[in-house]
Amino acid sequence: MSTTMRIKKGDLVQVLAGKDRGKRGRILKVLASKKGGAPRFIVEGVNLIKRHTKPNPGKNIKGGVVQREASLHASNVQLVCPECGAKTRIGHKVLSDGRKVRVCRKCEGVVDK
Ligand SMILES: [Zn+2]
Repeated sequence: MSTTMRIKKGDLVQVLAGKDRGKRGRILKVLASKKGGAPRFIVEGVNLIKRHTKPNPGKNIKGGVVQREASLHASNVQLVCPECGAKTRIGHKVLSDGRKVRVCRKCEGVVDK
């Protein structure tokens, strides 16, 4: 199983490939894959594409060029640890109170607060 599958909405990630390589942003949306493969992510401010829209006064749409985020494949992003700030692989740990949390493989810091 891919470690990137444990990324959730709201996580800070770094882009590993493509024109926005090295950029960081929050996960806005997780798009689950239909066949049980790796999901795709919408990352805030990353992988922007321009869409040309036609004006539609009935729906109060002005038209023109709109920028929005296109999805990234799970293998192209990696979690950024909130504790040490490095991009990292995700591990799991059970806390003394029985809670299962995600941890940073580099600093062992708890990712889930
Ligand atoms: Zn860390």
